Amino acid sequence: MSLEDHAEELASDLGVDKEEVKEKMATLLEYDVPIDEAKQNIRRTYGDGTTSGTETVPTKELADVDTGDSSVSTTVRVLSVGKRSIQYNDQEHVIFEGEVADESAKRSYTSWEDFDLQPGETVTLGNADVREWEGEPELNLGESTTVERVDETLEVPYEVGGDADLVELVPGDRGINVEVQVLEVERKIIDGRDGETEILSGVLGDGTTRLPFTDWEPSPEIEPGNSVRIENVFVREFRGVPSVNVSEFSTVETLSEPVDVQETAPRRSVREAVESGGLFDVELVGSVVAIRDGSGLIERCPECGRVVQNGQCRSHGEVDGEDDLRTKAILDDGSGTVTVVLDEEITAEVYGGGLDEAREHARDAMDREVVADAIRERVVGHEYRVRGSLSVDDFGANLEASEFAEHAVDPAERARDLLEAAE
Ligand SMILES: [Zn+2]
Repeated sequence: MSLEDHAEELASDLGVDKEEVKEKMATLLEYDVPIDEAKQNIRRTYGDGTTSGTETVPTKELADVDTGDSSVSTTVRVLSVGKRSIQYNDQEHVIFEGEVADESAKRSYTSWEDFDLQPGETVTLGNADVREWEGEPELNLGESTTVERVDETLEVPYEVGGDADLVELVPGDRGINVEVQVLEVERKIIDGRDGETEILSGVLGDGTTRLPFTDWEPSPEIEPGNSVRIENVFVREFRGVPSVNVSEFSTVETLSEPVDVQETAPRRSVREAVESGGLFDVELVGSVVAIRDGSGLIERCPECGRVVQNGQCRSHGEVDGEDDLRTKAILDDGSGTVTVVLDEEITAEVYGGGLDEAREHARDAMDREVVADAIRERVVGHEYRVRGSLSVDDFGANLEASEFAEHAVDPAERARDLLEAAE
C-alpha cells in the first residue's frame, strides 16, 4: 500500500481532509515512525474514539514513562530547546527538540508545534505522545498536546540550558551550546535540495577534546583559530563518531577570550572507549597481542583503494594492484581489545623502512609475508600508547591511529593504571 492509499483510507475513516492526513503521515514517516504507529498517532490527533478518545491520559513522573505508554501528562522543567528544519517532499517542517526533566529523570522530546518553550521554565504537558527513540521513551508534542506554564520552578538534578563540553556529546543530542576553538575548516560544494550549496566541515576543539563538525549554512565567524560560542547545535553520527551540526537556526558568536584546546586526547580504557560507540580523538594504552591478516606489504585496487586479495578486488574483479603498507594490530589493555590501523607512514616507522625497502625485502625472500612478519616481530608483546579516531560497528572496533608510540612504562604510572583498572 502506498502512502497515498494509507492516507486515503485513514482520511475517509476519520472523515477529514486527505491532503492534511498525508502531510502528517509523511512527516512522521520521515522520522522513521512505523506506518501503524503513524496512523494511530494521527487518529489520536483527530480524537478518534476508537483508540483513545474516552481513555484518560495518565499523569506520570518521567522515570515511570516507558515506551509502552501511548501518551502521558507530566510536569517538567525544560532543559534545552533546539530548532531544526526537516524536509519532506519539498516541504519544510520546523521542529523543536531537546530535553525535559523532573526530579526522577530526564527525557528527550520532539515538538511538532511551536509552543515557544524556553530553557529553564516549568510546564505541565498534557497528552504528550510517547514513542521510542534510540531505545528510550521520547515525548512527542503535537496538535493534541497542551502546554501550561507553571509558576513554581521545579528543582531538577540536571543542568538547565544545554551548555556542554565536546567530550560529553553523543549522537542524538539536540539544542546544545558549545564554546570552542575552530581548528580546521574545509569548504565543500554539495548537491543540496536547492542545487549546489556550500557547506563547511572541519574540526572543533575545547578543553576536553576535539570533534568534527559540519556547518550547513556557512557562518563567517567559523574560521581557523577563532574561538566561538555556538548555540543550538545537534549531534549526529558521522563515520562512527559524534559530529557537531551547525544549522540555519544556530547562532555563532565570536568570543573575546580564546578557548583553550586540550592538546592530548582523553585517555580511556579500551572497554570504555568501545562502549561509548565511537570517539573522534582518544588515547588508549595497551599491549599488541597480534597482527592481523592484511598487514605489511599489501596491494590496493587502483580504482577504489580496497585491499586486493589474490589479484581480485571485491568491486572491480581482476586488477593490477598498487603496493601499500598497512598494519592492523590487535591492542589489548585487559578491559577489551580493539584493532589499531596504522597507515603507510606509521607502518614504515614501525617496520623501519618504506615501500621500496619492503618491496626489496619481499623480492629477496620471494615472499611478501616477510614484511608483516618483521612488523609482528617488532610490536607483538610490547606496550603502546595509541591516539586516533575510534569507530565501532557490527564488524568490531577500529582505531585509525594518528600516533603510535612505544609506552615507556613509568612504575608509578603503571601502579596508578592498575589501581584505576581495578576500580
Ligand atoms: Zn576496486
